[in-house]
Amino acid sequence: MKNLSQKLGGPRIWIKRDDCTGLSTGGNKTRKLEFLMADALAQGADVVITQGATQSNHARQTAAAACKLSMQCHILLEDRTGRNDADYVLNGNVLLDRLHGATVARRPGGADMAAEMEKLADQLRADGHKPYVIPGGGSNPVGALGYVNCALELLVQLNDMGIAPTHVVHGTGSAGTQAGLVAGLVAARSGIPVLGIGVRAPRPKQEDMVLSLARRTCDHMGLGDIVASEDVVANCDYVGDGYGIGTPGMVEAVRMVAELEGILLDPVYSGKAMAGLIDLVRRGHFEADSDLVFLHTGGSAALFGYPDAFGLPGYAN
Ligand SMILES: *Cc1c(COP(=O)(O)O)cnc(C)c1O
Repeated sequence: MKNLSQKLGGPRIWIKRDDCTGLSTGGNKTRKLEFLMADALAQGADVVITQGATQSNHARQTAAAACKLSMQCHILLEDRTGRNDADYVLNGNVLLDRLHGATVARRPGGADMAAEMEKLADQLRADGHKPYVIPGGGSNPVGALGYVNCALELLVQLNDMGIAPTHVVHGTGSAGTQAGLVAGLVAARSGIPVLGIGVRAPRPKQEDMVLSLARRTCDHMGLGDIVASEDVVANCDYVGDGYGIGTPGMVEAVRMVAELEGILLDPVYSGKAMAGLIDLVRRGHFEADSDLVFLHTGGSAALFGYPDAFGLPGYAN
């Protein structure tokens, strides 16, 4: 991203376009679903169930993956932000969930979503179906394999391009992306640290979630205990008032990358991750003569659920 790098006057910032993974406007969940849906098929499932926030990118990509595989998809959406306007509850990812033919049901904020999915699975089994339950964000050792794979792909690309980045930076939420990346980059002895920018939990909780899942993922691959706690770093200073709630830094980041690079970020994840990256560059956190990789995890469909978030004239605030 030459224009953004130049504007910030810091390190050279490269972008890995996982917003272009192909299914239904793309995103990071597609890599996880490659493994999760294979597991569902191997188990003979005919329907998948998953959950997320109202504007969940994971739910949308799961609905699209189910279409490819001719499976049914049931989505439970948790009302995490308290917003009830038509754009938020009907547009963006929710519109796409429905276009992909998924069944969408809502649950109040704070509901035990795992228990809600199990209840639905019981009902479907009673009706003669074989449901496969995918956790929120697709973050378990099977889903995280998608990001082990991404780590290996990234290393080959960096090697081909002759780039030795000092960090890989991305938004971290349900932890599977960072856990898989860390597992893959450590297993390959790359020496490249990952910096997760948190979008929900405070730092200790976020780092615990990532470390635990990275270790379980290595265990699942038969690699043993190779991930150290120092390998997992999350910066959770850019969450603002909470998950899915806009911040001035997010607005600046989404607008800057849109205007300078012609690339769309999103208000919930990649916008906050980029806000963190921009702020850290401005504070001199990274060496000026160095290379950084920003992993773009997708999410632009959520822009249409938050049209009033960007301070643009003509959109009510
Ligand atoms: C889910 C998501 C993330 C976070 O990935 P996790 O694996 O849940 O930590 C980041 N960006 C976008 C756009 C997402 O949808």
